[in-house]
Amino acid sequence: MSIPKAPLSKPNVGHKDYDFYKVVQDYLEKAAQVAEIEPYVRTILSQPKNEIIVNFPVRMENGEVRLFKGYRVQHNNLLGPFKGGMRYHPQVSLDDVKALAAMMTWKSALMRLPFGGGKGGIKFDPHGVSKTELQRITRRFTHALGENIGPEYDIPAPDVGTNGQTMAWMMDTYSNMVGSAQKQSVKGVVTGKPVSSGGTLGRSKATGQGLVFCILEWARERSFELEGSTMIVQGFGNVGSNTAVILSRLGVSTIAVGDHTGYLYNPEGFNAHKLQDHVEEHGSIAGYPGGKAITREEFFATRADIFAPCALENQIGVAEAKALDVKLIAEGANGPTSPEGESILLGRNVDILPDVLANSGGVTVSYYEWVQNKRSESWSEEEVDERLEVGMKRTYREVSDLVRQKKCSTRIAAYALALTRIAAVYKEREIFP
Ligand code: NAD
Repeated sequence: MSIPKAPLSKPNVGHKDYDFYKVVQDYLEKAAQVAEIEPYVRTILSQPKNEIIVNFPVRMENGEVRLFKGYRVQHNNLLGPFKGGMRYHPQVSLDDVKALAAMMTWKSALMRLPFGGGKGGIKFDPHGVSKTELQRITRRFTHALGENIGPEYDIPAPDVGTNGQTMAWMMDTYSNMVGSAQKQSVKGVVTGKPVSSGGTLGRSKATGQGLVFCILEWARERSFELEGSTMIVQGFGNVGSNTAVILSRLGVSTIAVGDHTGYLYNPEGFNAHKLQDHVEEHGSIAGYPGGKAITREEFFATRADIFAPCALENQIGVAEAKALDVKLIAEGANGPTSPEGESILLGRNVDILPDVLANSGGVTVSYYEWVQNKRSESWSEEEVDERLEVGMKRTYREVSDLVRQKKCSTRIAAYALALTRIAAVYKEREIFP
């Protein structure tokens, strides 16, 4: 069965009226008030330290030379090296990357990681080029970034449209730029590498695993029985598919899924493993035989217990917030809920596990990978999972306590906690000179 391309009705990423950077700035302002952060710290954090734009040529397989635009935004490195993913998507823009880079600063601080925040990407459609071209684009981008990245300075990782393979090419290119003597010591220039190339066990599923640890804490707090419950998932890539697979082991059935090709419904529940294998092989959920094609509107109106948005920002606007019939929104994606959507959902008593908390399992296990690279160690998957569980659940409870104490939303509490930690360090270190 082939799936008709469901029209991606607005709001959507790249929508002209949606200023993602301003949205994140407004959260920062609100959280700064809640946490009583000094104005000078807000001023520093309101803009990234560096915004790098590179234009680089790549010869395509048909002989034509195409020029690509790549970005790396380095938001803050007070707590440690800049850290954050690289996105390959046609709608990558400087402002969106700035928003995503700032969110990485909050995530690292929230999880007590010795990292700052960064984000980057290239504005193009990775589905529209061959694997050879993808490799050339990645290598040329890494070369163009040059010394702007490094294992002690700025450490990329996978995001939308990139994966372990992309990271292996980046690491290989970087290690060939530093000279033979240093080659082995720069493995930590990227995280999310394949395990055979110096990655860690447990990283590919880490963001989904972290999301599940948060959902487990939420269920415990609410005395909600996960076994026998239902979920809908938007985005069935790294984060969405791993979340669905891990939750399926806890008895949660995924009854609707969607990605850039369309949406599918199966009231009996999808076999998350098989659907993940299908996406791995074909690049999308299109053509998966076990479900009925539905529209994006039908997807958002599907009744379920949990919605895991795991695709892009600004997917839950006013219409979607009114249509959603769920108890919990677990934000695997960064920025999936618009502020207008959020206020409608909170008014309807729908709980939201906000991105900076809920999807921070990815950067946390990236930190474990970086530590293993530094020490030439390799930890077991159990060890990685156990450390992640402790970190995610502890942070969930810290955020939850702050929500009760300050009577603010979970999102603002998560931001406030992160800001408090960063502000404390600014206070100790003061401003140079
Ligand atoms: P991915 O490329 O593996 O998957 C992205 C998914 O989104 C795909 O299924 C794709 O089809 C879908 N998608 C793209 N455009 C869409 C559209 N217009 N409508 C519906 N679906 C669309 O990326 P990923 O790594 O799983 O990242 C997903 C989200 O999670 C992003 O917001 C990313 O920033 C966030 N995130 C990722 C990680 C990580 O470790 N990979 C960590 C934290 C947060």
